[in-house]
Amino acid sequence: MTIPKSLKLANLPTKIEKLERLSKSLGDINIYIKRDDQTGTEVSGNKVRKLEFAVQEALDQGCDYLITCGGIQSNHARATAAVAAKLDINSYLVLRSNGDDPVEGNYFLNKILGAEICLITPEEYRDNRMKVMEEIQRELAGQGHKAYILPEGASNGIGTFGYYQAMEEILEQEAELDVKFDAIVTAVGSGGTYAGLFYANKLRKNEAKIYGINVCDDADHFKNRVQELVHESIQYTKRPIHFKKEDIHMIDGYVGEGYAQSRQEELTFILDFAKLEGIILDPVYTGKAMYGLVEEIKKGSFNGFKNILFIHTGGLYGLFPKGNQLF
Ligand SMILES: *Cc1c(COP(=O)(O)O)cnc(C)c1O
Repeated sequence: MTIPKSLKLANLPTKIEKLERLSKSLGDINIYIKRDDQTGTEVSGNKVRKLEFAVQEALDQGCDYLITCGGIQSNHARATAAVAAKLDINSYLVLRSNGDDPVEGNYFLNKILGAEICLITPEEYRDNRMKVMEEIQRELAGQGHKAYILPEGASNGIGTFGYYQAMEEILEQEAELDVKFDAIVTAVGSGGTYAGLFYANKLRKNEAKIYGINVCDDADHFKNRVQELVHESIQYTKRPIHFKKEDIHMIDGYVGEGYAQSRQEELTFILDFAKLEGIILDPVYTGKAMYGLVEEIKKGSFNGFKNILFIHTGGLYGLFPKGNQLF
């Protein structure tokens, strides 16, 4: 099947490693991790895979500006700023802030990468972020620019192909490693990563179950969102898949205090995991999701599963502003 064409910006394929000590500590199960945190340095994490497709579409439309939005520590916004700089076009980031955020982590990197930044309040972000981005697009048009608006997380029909392609990469790696994953697990924040994995998994008639662990909203919200995204992606391929909402496995219960808010047990888990495996998780996504996966394995939710693949979707820079809470 042909999927839309894309830029080549990420270091691919990312490796798959077995988490030897974590697996041993959990008993009769093998946990593997796919290092999508190593897709690059400036562009690191899962967003670059989605941007490879979405920004190709922007360039094909003749755009010279990327406008996007996210939280103050958005990994997606930082990846967008890095991609724009790399391609010699411009980025405009609309970030949610109370106005007192220190220039740290991703926000700091955005400034280094030369992004134009507009901070808006959480209320304005919730109610009007699209309007704000459209207003910027109009202003830029008045100055002779053409801007492409990327939704939160680059999770739209085109961006989703980044993880469609990642699923194909995983299938090739299974053959190389001689292992078959019964489950693939990812954090879910805007749904595109999950949707891409799910679409390719179904289309390729692979048997693995795809699990999402939501870090905001709730399971029902994301089941609907994933359905919408898969249908948007099908507009590009004309290759429908048949699935029910129940086929979308979303594990709720690990949002904790709320999006980008950390509980002590999550932070302690990140520290323990770093010492155990030499791999650093992030506080907003992968720390919560891996914590959730381990809790669910302990509860018996994955009894009978042999090999589980966790996608390390990145986010390291978002850990730096948590320094005070960690130590
Ligand atoms: C955005 C993000 C996710 C969530 O991916 P979605 O496609 O938005 O659901 C997971 N991990 C990290 C580190 C992210 O930045």
